[in-house]
Amino acid sequence: MASTAILWFRRDLRLSDNPALIAALDSYDRLLPVYIHAPGEDAPWSPGAASNWWLHHSLRALDVSLRERGSRLLLLSGDSLACLQALIATSTASAVFWNRCYEPVSIARDSRIKQQLRAQGIRCESHNSGLLFEPWQIKTTTDQPFRVFSAFWRRATARLADIPTPTPAPGILPPLPDGISSTDGRLSQSLPEQPLDALGLLPRIGWDAAFSDSWQPGAAGAQARLRRFFDQGAHDYAVVRDQPSVAGTSKLSAHLHFGEISPRDLLQAANATAGDHEAFVRELGWREFSTHLLFHFPQTAELPLNPMFDDFPWRDPIPPVLLQAWQRGQTGIPLIDAGMRELWHSGWMHNRVRMIVASFLTKNLRIPWQTGARWFWDTLVDADLANNTQGWQWTAGSGADAAPYFRIFNPVRQGERFDPEGGYVRHWCPELARLPNRYLHAPWTAPVGILQQSGVTLGLSYPHPLVDLADTRREALAFWQQLRDTD
Ligand code: FAD
Repeated sequence: MASTAILWFRRDLRLSDNPALIAALDSYDRLLPVYIHAPGEDAPWSPGAASNWWLHHSLRALDVSLRERGSRLLLLSGDSLACLQALIATSTASAVFWNRCYEPVSIARDSRIKQQLRAQGIRCESHNSGLLFEPWQIKTTTDQPFRVFSAFWRRATARLADIPTPTPAPGILPPLPDGISSTDGRLSQSLPEQPLDALGLLPRIGWDAAFSDSWQPGAAGAQARLRRFFDQGAHDYAVVRDQPSVAGTSKLSAHLHFGEISPRDLLQAANATAGDHEAFVRELGWREFSTHLLFHFPQTAELPLNPMFDDFPWRDPIPPVLLQAWQRGQTGIPLIDAGMRELWHSGWMHNRVRMIVASFLTKNLRIPWQTGARWFWDTLVDADLANNTQGWQWTAGSGADAAPYFRIFNPVRQGERFDPEGGYVRHWCPELARLPNRYLHAPWTAPVGILQQSGVTLGLSYPHPLVDLADTRREALAFWQQLRDTD
């Protein structure tokens, strides 16, 4: 009789360089590719609205790739263990293969599932598809996790040459086992199979209208973006990666998060392309470091890594008017507003601008970093618990190897330095487009005549600044000093 394995897709939505797929095909004749929609299982970090939009399209793309090769994706909805058990009961599957996720709740769930299934005599195998190194592989000489990026990356780069070459997608896949599909292609058995549209992943209000212009979720979209980046942008990366008006970064973050492309693919492309790509590969290092930190310090998605910040006097309660102005890109500070609008419209924001809006929220507005992280979580297509946590804690000053709290980004100076021609601000804040460069990043400093000529009326066509940048900076530093004195 033909042997059958279940291939449980999670955040590895691709067929190339997929170790669980290769391992399953090596030992089994038939394959049951399944995705289980189990939203509550990720709580308190269930995917946000933008991530769900991406997931919907990525699952469709994965199903197309499977069908092109003679298989298809089974979509089940419900508790993961219960769905796997139902699938085992209605098929001859005797093994489950998957690629690992590293969020604390995923680790707990997967360990429980492995234990239960093995107790039933089912073979369970998990693999690494999402990282260059497992989070436990890179350790200090005293066998401790790293807290400093440069030391972590030094240790990791010494082992980069050992990273295996990515494997191509199989050209053909075995069909679903006999008896599992009825003539209409749906499962004939009493399994909780759902059509994709029934999963409710797309937003109910059409706020995602512009997303399809910016993104092509799925492995083909990821490979196309990778090729475009290495054909056009990669050689300038180290120079232009900080300029938000230039398409100077890869924009591969959501593809990486959903596992539509592997970091090994990126490393291979960097090694195979002429030029120095160290700066780019180093950013992959930050991704590895973020996962390393979340793995070893699982409390940090909610709590500061540095306990000194436990007592930081954040605003309490948070004034809704401040938070909403930040969320809606109506703070009256152009670079902040441009970033927050880019996020809302496209589901992505440039890395430098992420740091600046996060600094503004946590330092000038003194709103807890967790509140900002939640907003990003819901609105970013690349929302990733490890990277988001690390990015917010780094900016707030409470994380590993963090920017010191007293380093407060000045959004006006940052705008003048990184968006000197104002292309980024003019694009996202068109009401300011006619202001001369000199006043673009601080319209409140422009003489009345210039504002009039540029069609800007502060308080009407564009807000007055929400807070005084210099005063709030001073206040933040005073609070920080108090905290240090009492530590
Ligand atoms: P590129 O510059 O092309 O870099 C290539 C890849 O390296 C990225 O796709 C990403 O996977 C990784 N990378 C780059 N920079 C970082 C970084 N600083 N930390 C960790 N990995 C990095 N990134 C996310 O993927 N998801 C998040 O939820 C997220 N939240 C963030 C929140 C804040 C406050 C900050 C400051 C940063 C956050 N980042 C997050 C990191 C970074 O901003 C994005 O990864 C990057 O902007 C994605 O664009 P890109 O793919 O063009 O990056």
